[in-house]
Parts: sequence; structure tokens; C-alpha cells
Amino acid sequence: MENIYGKTVEELEEYLKANHFPKFYGKEIFMWLYQKQISSIDDASNLSLELRKKLKEDFSFERIQILECQKGEDVSKYLFRLSDKEHIEAVLMKHDYGLSLCISSQVGCNMGCKFCESGRRKKVRNLEAYEMVLQVLEIEKECGSRISHVVIMGIGEPFDNYENVTQFIRIINHDKGLCIGARHITISTCGIVPKIYELMNFPYQVNLAVSLHAPNDALRKEIMPIAKVYALSNVITALKEYVKKTNRRLTFEYILLDDVNDHPKEALELVELLKGMNAYVNLIPYNETTHLQYKRSKPLTIAKFCDILKKNGICVTIRREFGKTISAACGQLRSEKEEL
Ligand code: SAH
Repeated sequence: MENIYGKTVEELEEYLKANHFPKFYGKEIFMWLYQKQISSIDDASNLSLELRKKLKEDFSFERIQILECQKGEDVSKYLFRLSDKEHIEAVLMKHDYGLSLCISSQVGCNMGCKFCESGRRKKVRNLEAYEMVLQVLEIEKECGSRISHVVIMGIGEPFDNYENVTQFIRIINHDKGLCIGARHITISTCGIVPKIYELMNFPYQVNLAVSLHAPNDALRKEIMPIAKVYALSNVITALKEYVKKTNRRLTFEYILLDDVNDHPKEALELVELLKGMNAYVNLIPYNETTHLQYKRSKPLTIAKFCDILKKNGICVTIRREFGKTISAACGQLRSEKEEL
């Protein structure tokens, strides 16, 4: 049985029509699920008894369970248990512009980035759209405040689960539902080129963030196996076209790993690579994890790297740090839980 939280308004309308109910109930159902956040469809008082009964017959209303929550000053980390007992995590961050939630898109990840905790466990399965929607809904319910931004940057590679991720975006974007503006949604990818082309035709103004982490193929291949499949030149060509076609915002993420990719040489190479691209670079101080050998770059090295980019006309910020004290790096909480 399909889960109701994985359906768009348009799909509910189709369903209603096919079952001889008025189509406009689609938006009503959305409002009950996402704005009133009812825990049982029986509470949807303006839907007929007959419709409620039919919905219960045809859809699953199963939720996902918050197993654990670690709260820091302006960050909270949630561990979920899914119906097949798998674990995923989401991180809620308090910014001055609102609450931003980082969600997972897969159980495990097949990309195998050397520095990443999530990739230590191979992909078990994709998350269904409803399991992504419910990460947002459950946390919004739990914290009692509106989530205004969503980043798909938790466990998993969203472009390895493209259909469900775009379905998820359609659902959370709807103004009768969670109403999260497309410009407030960011997809983060390690750079799966065919999906960059596909996203050009996705009619929502979402942001794209690309995990670059190295300015040349040789170094990138050492730390990110996906670089063996897609050369940087192909990634950059796709992105230039993406920006030209969509005019959407593009961010590059660059983790600074001590003595790996943080020398002035790499900063200068990065300048060359991104020149003329109107790119925005987010430097990420590495979150060290117990299982992996990589170290965070020294503060002075980070500052110098940042300066080189700035002096050469690249827009750059150093990512504000959340969750250092609560194992908030991608995949850490789950891996502690499962003692991987
Ligand atoms: N697969 C997607 C999204 C998930 S990872 C991607 O690659 O973008 C989200 C971001 O967190 C990526 O930029 C990833 O490289 C980064 N990341 C992974 N482990 C990290 C760590 N320990 N410290 C800081 N950033 C990390």
C-alpha cells in the first residue's frame, strides 16, 4: 500500500477523481496532513466519513519514529527508525533567517567518499519520498516551529535517488502543505553529471550545491571515487549549462582536509577552475570522526585558502559550524548507534 505522505496534491486529485470524490479535497487533505498536522485522518472533520474510510483502505498513514534527539545550542540532531528498522538522521539548524533542516536521502551511500562517515556503510536502499517528507513533518511537530529551509545533505547521494527526491520536493513545496519555497531547498551532490542535465528541466527553482573538495581530477579521484566516473571538466561543463539555462544559484562545497587539499596550490587551481563562473564557494572545516584518518585543516591554513579565493574574485564563505559537540557530521550519529 502506498504511503499518503508520498503523494503530491495532483496525484491525490487524480485519485479522488478516479474514485468519484470532488477533486478539491486533494488540497484539503494536504492541509490536514501538513498544516493542521493531524495524527489520524479521522480528525479531518470536513472530509466525509466515506472518504476517510476509503483513504484508510487505500493508503498507509504510517509515520517514522524519532528514536533519539541530541540537542545543542542552535543545532539538534535526530535519529529516526524506519518501518524496516533501518536508521537515518536529520539535523536541524537555527539560523538568523529561520530553521533549516538537513535530511537524509538514502539508507547508507554508495559514493564511498574517503572522508565521509556515511559512506562507510554501503547503500541499503533509497528512501521513499514519504520518508523524506516525514523527516520534515516529524521534526516540525517535535520542535513546534516552522521549518523554512531544507537541505538534502544528510546520508545518501540525492542524485542516486533522483525520482524520489524530486517527488519529495514537489510535496514539501506545495503551498497547501509544508510550503517550503523552492529557493529555500538545496540539493547537494557529489557531481553525477547526467542528473545535473536532468535537473535543468525540473521546473522548481531549487539550489544546487556540488561537493567539489578538490580542484583537479588526480586529487579528486583519491578522495572521491565518483571522480573516476565523471571528470571535473564534464562536471563543470554541465554546471555552466545548468546556470545558463536556469539562472539558479550554484554553490561549490569544499571540505578542507589537513595537508590533503588545503595548500595554496589547490586554492590557485580552484580559482582557475571556477574563473568566470559566478560561483560561490563554501569552505567546510572538516568534522573529524573517530573511524577516519583525515584531520581538519589548521585555522590559519583555512584563512589563507579563503584569502586566495577572495583576492582572485571568487565569492567565498567559511561554513559556520554546527554540531561539533553532538556528532553532527554526516552519518556519525547513526554509526554510533549501530556501532559500525
Ligand atoms: N552525497 C551528497 C550529499 C551528502 S554529503 C554530496 O556529496 O554532496 C553532504 C556534504 O557533507 C558533502 O559536501 C560531504 O562531502 C560533506 N561531508 C561529509 N563528511 C563530512 C565531514 N566529516 N565533515 C564535513 N563535511 C562532510
